[in-house]
Amino acid sequence: MNVYLNKKIALRIANGHPWIFNNEIDKITGQVTEGGIADVFYADGSFAGKGYVNTKSQITVRLLTRKKEEINDTFFLNRIQEAWQYRQKTGYTENCRLVFGEADYLPALIIDKFNDYFVLQTLSLGMDAWKPAIVKALETIFNPKGIYERNDVPVRELEGLQQQKGFLSQPFDTTITIRENGLQFYVDVKNGQKTGYFLDQQDNRRAIEHIAKGADVLGAFTYTGTFEIHAAHYGAKSVLGIDISENAVEQANKNAALNGLDKICRFEAVNAFDVLKSWAKDGRQYDMVMLDPPAFTKSRENINKAVTGYKEINLRGMKLIKNGGFLVTSSCTNLVSPGLFLETIEAAAKDARKKIRQVTFKAQASDHPIIWGMENTNYLKFLIVEVSDK
Ligand code: SAH
Repeated sequence: MNVYLNKKIALRIANGHPWIFNNEIDKITGQVTEGGIADVFYADGSFAGKGYVNTKSQITVRLLTRKKEEINDTFFLNRIQEAWQYRQKTGYTENCRLVFGEADYLPALIIDKFNDYFVLQTLSLGMDAWKPAIVKALETIFNPKGIYERNDVPVRELEGLQQQKGFLSQPFDTTITIRENGLQFYVDVKNGQKTGYFLDQQDNRRAIEHIAKGADVLGAFTYTGTFEIHAAHYGAKSVLGIDISENAVEQANKNAALNGLDKICRFEAVNAFDVLKSWAKDGRQYDMVMLDPPAFTKSRENINKAVTGYKEINLRGMKLIKNGGFLVTSSCTNLVSPGLFLETIEAAAKDARKKIRQVTFKAQASDHPIIWGMENTNYLKFLIVEVSDK
């Protein structure tokens, strides 16, 4: 199967982007095998690379390589080895995102490593076809205690795949315990959100070490309480965490107890949008407010709505902060660029009649590397500002 590209778009693809959209393709020759590997050529006939094909997806081809190499089990073993070497070199060995899709030159593949356990997602038809090879590679490199598939993700349906989850190894107890920054956390790889745990914030959780000391803290969108438990560990006086999910709150309370911090940390299941508003009206005040909401949109049409959402919660959050306190705020919506996020926070500060000073501005941890030109790899914004009445 050969794919020939149109003239116009070849430059973008030549610059390193692995996605080829339907309207960028001139023709496909030979028998079309959905999910199969094709040789891809530029309009001038020169070789562009090899990738997998799904004519039913908007992204018709995702390139796996720019070289004339065989795509087989060894190819996947090598790519996963390389991904592991990068994590080892950058200091992410115990728990890490082992494979971060496009950023590891394995489009639509996610693998999270939680010590001896692995959770994977194959989010496209072409990548799903290589699941046995991927599992074999993990067995070869790590001899894991367990591998679990969290393919219960709606995006798979755009590829004509079913949503599913389950063991890809011998069954194991799916509540595992990980260590992070000297703390311990339960990770529910079967029923937790996404792969069970948000590794992308692992370094950012350390960024609150000094400002948490002696503070009264409010955390919203806490999930299993990681930021809040860090705050308590770093010396916060009191910590209240809120999340809309009863299940997350239950896990968060268990995590606090696991670390002996349940006297300081308390979690409640409430809607953050409602309570941030009413608590601000009530005049509640905290030394530090932390916000880490879920992605507000995945489509370009809704960027404005997402920005309004960020502005709203950050404005409410700032009103709840004592003069000289800190706002710790995140955004994982990749369509909201770092620049747009900062502008939104600035607008929120104006409306809240607060002055802000930037303390820290970061992205996700380095086990989720960013490739310039692939915007979806640069998705997490993590900002700390000091908030004052000056
Ligand atoms: N800070 C967490 C990750 C948060 S994920 C960590 O580092 O692990 C976002 C969380 O927001 C989810 O747990 C979700 O249940 C919660 N959430 C979504 N909408 C919400 C709402 N309206 N109010 C409170 N929590 C909400």
